[in-house]
Amino acid sequence: MERFDAIVIGAGPAGSTAAYRMAKGGLKVLLVERAKVPGGKNLFGGRIYSHILRKHFGNFESDAPVERFVVRETIGMMDESDCASIDFVSRRSEANKASSFIARRSRFDKWLADKAEGAGALLVPGTNVEDIVVRDGAVRGIVSGGDTIESECVVNAEGVTATIARKAGLRSDVSPSQVKVGVKETIELGKDRINDRFNLSDDEGAAGVFIGYPASYLSASGSFVYTNSDSVSIGLVVDPIELSGARKDVQLMIEEFRLHPYMQRLLKGGRMIEYSAHMIPNSVPLEPSNLVGNGFLNTGDAAGLFVNHGFTYRGVDFAIASGIAAADAVISAHSAGSYGRDSLMSYYEYLAREVIPELRRAEKTAGVLHNKRMFSTYPPFVLDFLEDMFRFDGVGKTPVSSSLRKNMKGRISTLTALRDMLSAYRKL
Ligand SMILES: Cc1cc2nc3c(=O)[nH]c(=O)nc-3n(C[C@H](O)[C@H](O)[C@H](O)COP(=O)(O)OP(=O)(O)OC[C@H]3O[C@@H](n4cnc5c(N)ncnc54)[C@H](O)[C@@H]3O)c2cc1C
Repeated sequence: MERFDAIVIGAGPAGSTAAYRMAKGGLKVLLVERAKVPGGKNLFGGRIYSHILRKHFGNFESDAPVERFVVRETIGMMDESDCASIDFVSRRSEANKASSFIARRSRFDKWLADKAEGAGALLVPGTNVEDIVVRDGAVRGIVSGGDTIESECVVNAEGVTATIARKAGLRSDVSPSQVKVGVKETIELGKDRINDRFNLSDDEGAAGVFIGYPASYLSASGSFVYTNSDSVSIGLVVDPIELSGARKDVQLMIEEFRLHPYMQRLLKGGRMIEYSAHMIPNSVPLEPSNLVGNGFLNTGDAAGLFVNHGFTYRGVDFAIASGIAAADAVISAHSAGSYGRDSLMSYYEYLAREVIPELRRAEKTAGVLHNKRMFSTYPPFVLDFLEDMFRFDGVGKTPVSSSLRKNMKGRISTLTALRDMLSAYRKL
């Protein structure tokens, strides 16, 4: 039976990058993916930060399946009928093709897997890994369809469910507090309508995040909008524990978001072509014992490498960074002729230096999102205040200070508002 230097589980961003790097480094690599085509079953919001691709793939734009480059950012607050938003258009982003772009996973993951194959990795799609092979306390292969395939080590890039990571003893059961739930719809709208309604041209793209309705009773929840080339992705990210307490259904909530008057101005006449739901990692322990084992490395979502600031969702660039770092650790281990935990520890050292500090900082920032008033009290307060500010019915304008007092009354005390501001300032 053929034996590999490394087997990679999962051809998502982490897995394909790891396979690409190891194959380029001269290793014999097997990349297995349960979907028939890489990316076929994968879901995300839509935005990828370019820095990591530029670093490892150079001028990636020349052949990557970029839908649009983000030049327009929107942050908004909604109640049932209204929306207040800040719109940011960046000349610098326009000039240098943006620091982020919008992609569809079915195309992007396929592109990355092709890179791995091009570098010499053997890609076997339609293959579900059921178990790992352990010999003398070290992981030495995988089990799929009852067959055993042997290798010197395994790079695990299976995503958020971390089933194989649990079998390898690197994760305990994934508890509801360690995930968020994301749902997404793709609405076909046509390039011209997208350009008109989002004020874009050519390959320019827009990204928007919103708090408040329809998730106003949940903390750390929000909605998003991304423009693809000729369709628009909309979605929600919510906390499953709060969701079940509130007895709400995400399918209904995404419909409420889509039917909001602000969204209808953007999406009217569109046709839903895709609906999907997926989990996102949340507050997963990032200890060496969760990331590196004997002959085993945990990468990407399987390791919990995800950041949710509220205004950004980032997982793909961390997945790619971890795939590269895992591959480099395996290449060094291969040269040293030992795949034990100590030999692979440079992977953890890289993450501890380059990735984990950023995740910890983001967790602190995300503390602001755990204040429920951000989602339930402030959006309707801001919208009512703005209504007073901009409406004139001929009777005499309410002074701004009176409008502030009137809209705070019964909603929030001055002291609580000041405390919230101070706390947000400290966390941000
Ligand atoms: C709603 C939502 C919105 C998001 N928005 C963004 C965003 O805008 N930007 C961003 O950067 N990130 C976003 N993310 C996060 C991002 O999708 C993940 O962080 C990223 O995909 C992680 O990559 P990965 O390679 O670790 O895992 P995945 O992308 O999950 O890939 C895992 C792969 O392993 C395969 N697999 C799983 N189990 C097995 C098995 N047993 N055998 C064989 N193959 C297996 C899967 O089919 C899959 O192809 C979002 C996520 C969600 C759910």
